[in-house]
Amino acid sequence: DVTATKGLDFEDLYIKRELLMGIFEAGFEKPSPIQEETIPVALTGRDMLARAKNGTGKTAAFVIPALERVNPKSTKTQALILVPTRELALQTSQVCKSLGKHLGINVMVTTGGTGLKDDIIRLNEPVHILVGTPGRILDLAGKTVADFSECPTFIMDEADKLLSPEFTPIIEQLLAYFPSDRQIMLFSATFPLVVKSFMDKYLNKPYEINLMDELTLRGVTQYYAFVEEKQKVHCLNTLFSKKLTVVFSKLQINQSIIFCNSTNRVELLAKKITELGYSCFYSHAKMLQNHRNRVFHDFRGGVCRNLVCSDLLTRGIDIQAVNVVINFDFPKNAETYLHRIGRSGRFGHLGLAINLINWDDRYNLYKIEQELGTEIFPIPPVIDKKLY
Ligand code: ADP
Ligand code: MG
Repeated sequence: DVTATKGLDFEDLYIKRELLMGIFEAGFEKPSPIQEETIPVALTGRDMLARAKNGTGKTAAFVIPALERVNPKSTKTQALILVPTRELALQTSQVCKSLGKHLGINVMVTTGGTGLKDDIIRLNEPVHILVGTPGRILDLAGKTVADFSECPTFIMDEADKLLSPEFTPIIEQLLAYFPSDRQIMLFSATFPLVVKSFMDKYLNKPYEINLMDELTLRGVTQYYAFVEEKQKVHCLNTLFSKKLTVVFSKLQINQSIIFCNSTNRVELLAKKITELGYSCFYSHAKMLQNHRNRVFHDFRGGVCRNLVCSDLLTRGIDIQAVNVVINFDFPKNAETYLHRIGRSGRFGHLGLAINLINWDDRYNLYKIEQELGTEIFPIPPVIDKKLY
């Protein structure tokens, strides 16, 4: 159960009425545990590191305080929300817009892969909250189009990803554009040690909250099937099959995400699935951004039941209709596994994860189970519908 543990209501959190209206209209009744822990502290401006499992409402945990602290009368940018992928930027900006719809403020999203000139024009207007991916935001700051000189709040979602070697230099350059007393808030489900050195260097007596003690993958039943590489497509066909087969009972897929380890394999598999007669979309990093956006938008809208993708869409993506995640290719490490599997079982819903394991994956399967302290079971002939 991911509803509040302290029993606080949103009304108890000292947030203004217009914001409460947005929250209730979004269908939120009570703050989730991570929200009741972080929102009151975040409102004081304190630095923060918050860790909670996938699907427990971390987005609103930083969006609500960001919205509450914005002064609509000022024309300055008052919060930057940085995320690692473009799709997540879009999704997060939509949460800001929806919760903040009665505040009369302007939220802008900007990512790589879209026209820089358009962004520059849009930034002529006051932008109170800016959501985006690191490279593009740094570009805009460097061109002095985005102005963070008085921006009090710097938020990083999926912070450990943003603090990986790939992004850290960009983050450090970006921070230099902020006032020295800015508030930094880091959110993620996974925090490897590398984050520690960043925290020591840049955060001021951070409030640390970790709600990960409970079993991380609660709500998601995980299975594996040993399959030879050549048999994987056949196996998938059996899982999808509308007919009852001898081996497996048919899966009740609401929507599924199927992960592959490379862009090539994403395209190949999507083609095969289509040939087998199942509807499917695919998405990977080498596709044009507006195509990616359309796929994401339509999949979320339920236009198609299955989505084949690479790890591009592992982090943060929230599509509640997804009840089955399939690792067509088994991920290389526990962190990727956790984030992929977290695409189902969100906000208290149940989910199913099915891992196709070839001969080379077998040690990795064991390693990941150990590392996450979780159990991945052999797939049974009949999967209880109540589990997902
Ligand atoms: P996380 O970032 O922790 O993985 P999200 O912020 O994506 O989780 O939230 C998961 C889902 O839970 C979203 O669909 C969101 O709308 C929903 N949600 C968040 N907070 C609440 C709440 N207080 N009450 C009801 N639903 C909520
Ligand atoms: Mg998230």
